[in-house]
Amino acid sequence: MYEKKRFFREPIKTEIQEFHAVEVEKDLVETILSIAESDYILLPKGLVPEKYPSSWNFLRHGPFVRAGLRERVTSFVKGARVPVDFRIDSFGALESQAYAGYAYSPLTIVPYVHRDTRERRVSLVECLEGARIDAYVHQVPAAHVGIEEYSRAGAVKKDGAIFHVHVPRRIKGMRRYQFNINHVPVIDNADKWGIAWATMTQGHDCLRGEYLNIRFAKQDTGVFNWCAHEIAGYFAVIRTLNERGNKVPLQMSQFALPTPLTVDFYKRLCDSVLVHDEELESKDKIRKLNKAEKEILLWGLVGKKGHHPTFFAKDKIKDYDWSLRHRE
Ligand SMILES: [Zn+2]
Repeated sequence: MYEKKRFFREPIKTEIQEFHAVEVEKDLVETILSIAESDYILLPKGLVPEKYPSSWNFLRHGPFVRAGLRERVTSFVKGARVPVDFRIDSFGALESQAYAGYAYSPLTIVPYVHRDTRERRVSLVECLEGARIDAYVHQVPAAHVGIEEYSRAGAVKKDGAIFHVHVPRRIKGMRRYQFNINHVPVIDNADKWGIAWATMTQGHDCLRGEYLNIRFAKQDTGVFNWCAHEIAGYFAVIRTLNERGNKVPLQMSQFALPTPLTVDFYKRLCDSVLVHDEELESKDKIRKLNKAEKEILLWGLVGKKGHHPTFFAKDKIKDYDWSLRHRE
């Protein structure tokens, strides 16, 4: 059995059940934000829309928030809009429904022709977990992300830089993941717009393992799913370059940076919410939130509070407090 490192350990169901259960009367997002330390929320199952046969199916086939291709092409022609501008627009125009993440595609028009044109998908849960790994490597002695730059000088201008990163795992006693992040925009030129939509990794596929378990691998081939390790690797690239006075990787980042409000909300999802699920085999039919439910609730927070209060971080994410309630 894998054991999580102390920094990542969350209370288990029975630890949460020692507290006082409350039901949600009206606004779920506000109830979660204001839940008292002595309480936890017991939700009926039903966050994932019924038409999806399972939570994993929803995460694969549910609706994604997308930046329109036409707006992006126009913006490149005019030059000026960076990825966060598209998130501000699309996060600000959510419909009232459950979302499975946000997505974007590399441009396939000249001069932005990239070989890997798979749609890139980002889940807010993976952004939060990437931020948690980022805090871990800065707050726990001896933990760190290793970065080596492997760029060919001539190609960097047009294709972006390549970084080889080593990112720690959240479970004990396992070697760090090692992989490349390709197409990282590092030069402040006209090509940075095209490069930023093509950024991806090579040699890492931990989410594929999750999908393989439930036999979704085949349907997954046209899509590139960003995971927490890769996002934490990109955060480390941002910081390393920033220390050299280069803000281009930050400016062109495709990842939503959670604010302290969002981290607190997410922490409550991990330590103060349980679900009553009749389909469970366990006697009490109670479980913790699954990934799809956390994703839906994070989008609920964005829908209620807007982009800037939730994912426009001004504070340094490495310094966030990730301590959880109800842990022994
Ligand atoms: Zn991963």
